Amino acid sequence: MAFESLTDKFQNIFQGLKKKGKLSEADVKAAMKEVKMALLEADVNFKVVKQFVEAVRERSIGQEVMESLTPGQHVIKIVQEEMVRLMGAEKTDLSFSPKPPTVFMMVGLQGAGKTTTCAKLAGLLKKQGKKPLLAACDIYRPAAIKQLQVVGGQLGIPVFSMGDQHDPVDISKAAVAHGVQNHHDVVILDTAGRLHIDEAMMEELVAIKEQIGPQEVLLVVDAMTGQDAVNVAETFNGKIGIDGVILTKLDGDTRGGAALSVRAVTQKPIKFACVGEKLTDIEVFHPQRMTSRILGMGDVLTLIEKAQESMDGKKAAEMEQKLRKAEFTFEDFLDQMQQIKKMGSLSDLMGMIPGMGQQMKNVEFDEKELSKVESIILSMTKAERSDPDLLTPSRKKRIAAGSGNSLQDVNRLVKQYEASKKMMKQMGGMMKGKKGKKGMF
Ligand code: GDP
Repeated sequence: MAFESLTDKFQNIFQGLKKKGKLSEADVKAAMKEVKMALLEADVNFKVVKQFVEAVRERSIGQEVMESLTPGQHVIKIVQEEMVRLMGAEKTDLSFSPKPPTVFMMVGLQGAGKTTTCAKLAGLLKKQGKKPLLAACDIYRPAAIKQLQVVGGQLGIPVFSMGDQHDPVDISKAAVAHGVQNHHDVVILDTAGRLHIDEAMMEELVAIKEQIGPQEVLLVVDAMTGQDAVNVAETFNGKIGIDGVILTKLDGDTRGGAALSVRAVTQKPIKFACVGEKLTDIEVFHPQRMTSRILGMGDVLTLIEKAQESMDGKKAAEMEQKLRKAEFTFEDFLDQMQQIKKMGSLSDLMGMIPGMGQQMKNVEFDEKELSKVESIILSMTKAERSDPDLLTPSRKKRIAAGSGNSLQDVNRLVKQYEASKKMMKQMGGMMKGKKGKKGMF
């Protein structure tokens, strides 16, 4: 699960802080030392860690925190706020040219996921009502053109190509002209990558940028490479000038170093995060939501959005209401699990449910696990399903026997359900406060 180890460490540090009635300067110092270690182990850039810890420490030893009745909570809030700030505070939208087509030039090293991401981005824009064109400008990597045609085809998005015998600058120009002729409002250039940064690649990219004048140059980097991704971003920004970063393979990134450092090091925003191999596995990068996920506080907003995408409108509205009021029952829980299967990687989605990631991290989410949950819930009476408070030990025993599971299985499910319900109540309160605010649903 993404950021697993960092989330674990923060949870432990926070537990320690919450236990203390009053915090001394020494307590804060000790906690900050742990935060520092956790971030360094997560492969966050050294300078970024230093600045982050210093900012949190300075605010945490302020009078307001020290004299507060819940200083631990205060410090946690400061960590959260500083982390949001580190990743850019607010989400950064793509900009579009007043005179279409808007050209997005995608750059990055080979294997980072550039071609896949071109298609994902085109798919996302298509969903928003745009008419994108993909352009195959990578003439070096064998099969790159074919790959773009395949993924474009899967999404019903046209792909412009001139084979591999033309100059990439000429291909880019022809692609834009083709875009104008065919009334495309967005042209996405899939440029060539290399295994490592080399001068010839950089020169070619600079030439395309100069000749085409794209609205945005978007750098695709592999989050799993941690600080390497940050170094790549720094180099590309220095040599070509980038407008934003797209982080890929966040689903496999257990550390989080790239997500936490890229913005601070390059001063360029992370615009999107890719979280899987499917062409729909792309999300707008929200610093606040990412912070919640990293700190183990869940990400209900993204979960709701994903649900809205894969459910019909009525069901989604019902779920939103239930989450807001924290009224959801075991039946909804089961319904969700079934829906979630449609939405993507189960363990990553579980990480978005407050309180779930931590408890479920060792559970392999496969068909078997889902049918276990299903059998337990189906063995409950209707009343039990909608009012979990009815679940006395003897009823749990009956449910375990009836569903062919152990009592521990039942207890675990109830615990998970209760933890997420509790956290949802808190999140529900937070969401109510933010209702109507731009950027929320
Ligand atoms: P390119 O060389 O940069 O064009 O990279 P590709 O688009 O060919 O992707 C390289 C590999 O990474 C492929 O196997 C992709 O399926 C995979 N990939 C791309 N993005 C993601 C992602 O967000 N998550 C995961 N798990 N795999 C990804």
